[in-house]
Amino acid sequence: MRIAWRASPNFNARRHRLDMLVLHYTGMKSAEAALSRLADPEASVSAHYVVLEDGLIIQMVDEAHRAWHAGAASWQGDDDLNSRSIGVEIVNGGHDFPLDEGGLSPFRDVQVAAVTSLCQAILTRHAIPQTRIVGHSDIAPERKRDPGEHFPWERLARHGIGLWPEKAPQLTGQALRGRGLVSGESGPAVRRMQDQLAAIGYDLPRSGVFDARTEAVVTAFQRRWRPRQVTGEADLSCLAMIAAVNDAYRAWRG
Ligand SMILES: [Zn+2]
Repeated sequence: MRIAWRASPNFNARRHRLDMLVLHYTGMKSAEAALSRLADPEASVSAHYVVLEDGLIIQMVDEAHRAWHAGAASWQGDDDLNSRSIGVEIVNGGHDFPLDEGGLSPFRDVQVAAVTSLCQAILTRHAIPQTRIVGHSDIAPERKRDPGEHFPWERLARHGIGLWPEKAPQLTGQALRGRGLVSGESGPAVRRMQDQLAAIGYDLPRSGVFDARTEAVVTAFQRRWRPRQVTGEADLSCLAMIAAVNDAYRAWRG
């Protein structure tokens, strides 16, 4: 693991115990643009680490301090997530800077390997539950799309970073008869899905109505656990995956 320092002045004291890890993409035109911004006092943003495309890791804020990366966000009932987390920015143009030919710019293997090593090291230093390793879009689903559906969460989970259901959900069986859920619907099936998403950690009122907030949370869930189908609609296999992730979270908590 190659780590270099480029200090950011944008930090202050933590107000809570550190027990979360938040992954981002930079979403800017270049690594240099991102690094400049994260060190700019006027911008008032920062991260503990930035992982460059070639795998070099730049540390900008000491882990003991509160970096400014999460913004208004919530997970498992907590807010002020900057006080609770380590923030890792991964250099990638993301949705705002797609490839010339369209589509999201892929994360290179060498960069993912560096992210993996960095996260593993962070997890050895701090007691961060697997259920509190999140993407920015998980904790701010109406504002954020990073680290994006092209980020290889499943690969990270195989290296002990975050949970991925062991068995792909089966699409047969009693529980999965019927159709999926879409925006505008209401009723107990919507409420059940909201219960499961909220139990995972998403900030989602259990209203029983598939409203705009629900659609944003379903989209965030899909970016992370169903990246080939990011639609905001919960078809049967999406509902099965929500249930499977909820089960995996419950099992992990014991
Ligand atoms: Zn972010």
